[in-house]
Amino acid sequence: MFSTLLIHWTITPATAPQPLINCNRCSGVKAYRSSGKFRVNANGKRIDVWLIYRCVDCDNSWNFGIFERCNRRDIEPALLQALESNDPALARRHAFDIVALRNQVGRVEAFADVAVRKRLVGGARQTATALELQLGLDMPTSLRLDRLLAGELGISRSRLQALEERRLLAVDPDGAKALRKPARQGVTIRIDLAGEPDREAIIRAAGG
Ligand SMILES: [Zn+2]
Repeated sequence: MFSTLLIHWTITPATAPQPLINCNRCSGVKAYRSSGKFRVNANGKRIDVWLIYRCVDCDNSWNFGIFERCNRRDIEPALLQALESNDPALARRHAFDIVALRNQVGRVEAFADVAVRKRLVGGARQTATALELQLGLDMPTSLRLDRLLAGELGISRSRLQALEERRLLAVDPDGAKALRKPARQGVTIRIDLAGEPDREAIIRAAGG
């Protein structure tokens, strides 16, 4: 009897990207952090919305443009309400929008720190010889998939590589290439541990 343990990992990126801005108060390039507060400026039919960032050293502010010169009719009332009340989930979503940030600032520092919550969703622990890990991310991270797996499973990246070369580790989609790229929403990793002496420790670490 052998079986696959199905485990879901909910990955929550901890630190939002930080734009590097020439701070005119510090007179030097400094990291700016989201304050979690929006500024909504309504002028007749036109609306501008920014997410306010602050210099980590001097608290000087910088505005990250969310809507600029937008027609009021084009913004749903519920969205406007969320912006005006500084809805934390909405502020977090914009703060993690690294593509939009990079369009407004030349340099943005990305972070790889994440919290991982593991939940067993199927299979029998006693007979398990393989793992299937499903990744769920609410926000993008710059953490590479092989670093995530190595850190969470307690095994080296070279061993992950060796497992992949022996076709005992498979990533869907994108195969082995995905190991060296940031961990992404919806990726599944299958690892055959039948021949691994420390199988039980790896399964425990995976959340089984
Ligand atoms: Zn400053």
